[in-house]
Amino acid sequence: MTNEKTGYLEEKYESLREQGETWPLNQLETASQARPIVEGQEVIMLASNNYLDLANDQRLRDATQDAIESFGVGAGSDWSIAGYTELQDELHEAIADFKGTEAGLSYQTGFAVNAGLLPQLLEGGDVFVSDALNHGSIIDGIRLSPADVEIYDHSDMGDLENTLREVHEEYNRCIVVTDGVFSMDGDVAKLDEIQSLADEYGAMTYVDDCHGEGVLGDGHGITAEFGLEDDVDFQMGSFSKACGGFGGMLAGDQHVIDYAYNTSRTWLLSAGYPPAVAAANKKALEIIDSEPERVRRLWEKRGYFAEELQSIGYDIGNSETPIVPAMIGNSKTAKELSERLFDTGIFALAIVHPMVPKGEARIRNQINVGLSQADLDEALRVYEEIGRDLDIV
Ligand SMILES: *Cc1c(COP(=O)(O)O)cnc(C)c1O
Repeated sequence: MTNEKTGYLEEKYESLREQGETWPLNQLETASQARPIVEGQEVIMLASNNYLDLANDQRLRDATQDAIESFGVGAGSDWSIAGYTELQDELHEAIADFKGTEAGLSYQTGFAVNAGLLPQLLEGGDVFVSDALNHGSIIDGIRLSPADVEIYDHSDMGDLENTLREVHEEYNRCIVVTDGVFSMDGDVAKLDEIQSLADEYGAMTYVDDCHGEGVLGDGHGITAEFGLEDDVDFQMGSFSKACGGFGGMLAGDQHVIDYAYNTSRTWLLSAGYPPAVAAANKKALEIIDSEPERVRRLWEKRGYFAEELQSIGYDIGNSETPIVPAMIGNSKTAKELSERLFDTGIFALAIVHPMVPKGEARIRNQINVGLSQADLDEALRVYEEIGRDLDIV
């Protein structure tokens, strides 16, 4: 019996469960799409990152199937040893084109970029300057680095400047790290101000664009939105969100890319994802580039939903993107609202402590371009009905 030794984990799990901090796993019985079947019922999907509805796009399916015909299923090895195909090479060129940088690279996941690359960029005597609401993978990547870290208040440019002024004296090199779109609030980093402050104090910049690709900058992401493709030193992102596929990406100068894959332990010591994934990812970039109206429609739907949700009486916090939270406050109320939404056919996730500060519980809605006007209206109708019932609006 290992139970004697691992029993403490059971206790810990139980206490998490009592606090409502465990994850029930909801089973999708169809592809991820605007109206999937989840746990036996068709729902309006407001909980996925599949903003551009590409996860089940026929063109991505075809690209994947063709690649399986030629290259089979598994990569067979780490990319660094014997798992690197021409599909991967083509994807790397496509990333550079798409991002407007000299070179591009794919990683197994977005998490693997941050956890693998951040630890390799700085040394003792250097410092990361990091936004307080940055993603957990950035926090973990920085923890693995010998460099120090200073946290600045979320999107507070005064605090960023004060921090830069201080570390500028004390440390050698400095990298300012920020999410492009913050995933809990749906607000956008003030990247123009961040870049000019970084330039002023001789710091490098590292931007995590996972929720920005396919959404900002006509789909090309936050650096395109701000015209900073040539300025941001490290541009990372993910294929698993608006692109509908899987994997992480990095864009930057050739020497940055060369250094990145030769030193990131996640890249070097973990298998490459299946070659067909590279084919799907490349197709997704082509579609986003050639169908700007798809991105425009996403924004129209986001605008409609955000405006109507507010006119019902919900507070959408700092949302500026297709992430449109309904701010609730109390965790229990947020969970009850989310459960009742689900029972009525609306799948939207309650985000509670510890993912957000206590008293800032919310339902996170994420708009998908595949949602019809009728879907949005139905979701809003249910929000109004249940919100009244729970005295939220
Ligand atoms: C989703 C996300 C990641 C992780 O990307 P994956 O490709 O899913 O591993 C990293 N950073 C941010 C800000 C994210 O939203």
